[in-house]
Amino acid sequence: MPIQDMKTLVALCQRRGFIFQSADIYGGMKGLYDFGPLGVELKNNIKAAWWRAMVYARDDMEGLDGAIIGHPLMFKYSGHTETFNDPLTECLDCQARMRTDKMADPSVCETCGSKNLLPPRAFNMMFKMQYGPTEGSGSEAYLRPETAQHIFTNFKNVLDTTSRKLPFGIAQMGKAYRNEIIARNFIFRVREFEQMEIEYFVMPGQDEAAHEAWLETRLAWWESIGVSRSRIKIKDVAKGDLAHYSKRTYDLEYAFPHGYDEIEGIANRTDFDLGNHTKHQAELNLTAKVTPNNHSNARLAVQIDEDPEAAAKGINGPKRWVVPFVIEPSAGVERAMLAVLCEAYTEEALEGGDSRTVLKFKPHLAPIKAAVMPLARNKPELVAKAQELKNSLQKLGLGRIMLDTSGNVGKAYRKHDEVGTPLCITVDFDSLTDQQVTVRDRDTMTQIRLPIAELNAYVRGVVEGN
Ligand code: ATP
Repeated sequence: MPIQDMKTLVALCQRRGFIFQSADIYGGMKGLYDFGPLGVELKNNIKAAWWRAMVYARDDMEGLDGAIIGHPLMFKYSGHTETFNDPLTECLDCQARMRTDKMADPSVCETCGSKNLLPPRAFNMMFKMQYGPTEGSGSEAYLRPETAQHIFTNFKNVLDTTSRKLPFGIAQMGKAYRNEIIARNFIFRVREFEQMEIEYFVMPGQDEAAHEAWLETRLAWWESIGVSRSRIKIKDVAKGDLAHYSKRTYDLEYAFPHGYDEIEGIANRTDFDLGNHTKHQAELNLTAKVTPNNHSNARLAVQIDEDPEAAAKGINGPKRWVVPFVIEPSAGVERAMLAVLCEAYTEEALEGGDSRTVLKFKPHLAPIKAAVMPLARNKPELVAKAQELKNSLQKLGLGRIMLDTSGNVGKAYRKHDEVGTPLCITVDFDSLTDQQVTVRDRDTMTQIRLPIAELNAYVRGVVEGN
């Protein structure tokens, strides 16, 4: 049974070094979190799993890592300056600010119950900044509210440098910033977060089928990181609630302790972005300044043969420009992390009335893959052997292996259960003569005696899920 209570999870994340309130020594900043020694591992492992599955395991994807600071024209023509708004109201009695589309009753203040609320107004969520040493107009830029725009503006660069043909996708992971009216539910809604986004380019007309295929692909990925399909609801977003660029969107909503809420949006963005950037770029006559290409070459579009059958026979016929349609699966890293933590959290009753807390992460996501511990910390030969095994395991490149010299094996098991370490390996006095170690499994708590010669292969098998 996944966790039902966010407070318990928040406390565990703080106590064990997963997630800290940012700048907590100065009172903290709402909606900003820092990721501690275990949090950074979990986060990196989730991102690596996404990149492996979405880029390396496929043959139709390229990667990108765009700048975080965005050109004002990029966000003007993407529509964000004008329409990336949430409806904001303010209570005239207690000054609380609220997002009306997320309120159970938009006529009543969530904080004090007053009905004295200002009419909603559009609040733009982008963080505006000054870029360079001169203040004033012409120097403003934005922290990107989504990673997507750099994929669109680099479409031609990627196309030209990789010779891709439709359909193909560009994947990107990275920070995004939104000045959310209310940051709440731990790391669910924050003002700085990371996205894992794909823009998958297809011929117009093939967009709907591609959209359905991506829905299945993404559900399977969530399952692969331990987020059960039975706890995800697919919401076919109502026409009136669609983002300004979307023809149709599926939201994947996970059963968080605070209720079903979005972990990923899979949108059919049509030719909205590529089309707009191409159109405005041409109007402004900017291309000539920024690239040596002429206009038509710099279009964010592909050239296709008017007569594909003739082209297949090697006949060079006329070509035309087509602006591809785009399917965008966009997931949040923090929301993925929160869902993974919720799913992994388990409390188990033990014999003798005791109980334990275990984070049953999939091994490839676990922050620590294995802990190697000497039975006693004051026996140099045991510590040296444990160190040697740790070094050898570390070289496998599976992720973090920890040398745990606390010397209290019972206590160490408890701690490693609580942070989700799949394997604990104990070096005892017999190990020095029989060249075997005790390996304890997190989920079953069974212990086996394993020859040291087989240890690396065994740990690799567990971490890689064999
Ligand atoms: P919401 O309706 O919850 O505000 P959204 O529909 O605006 O989310 P998208 O624009 O579709 O979100 O962004 C894609 C993904 O980025 C979301 O599914 C989510 O995982 C992540 N994301 C968006 N906003 C935030 C945020 N403030 N904090 C953490 N993750 C976020």
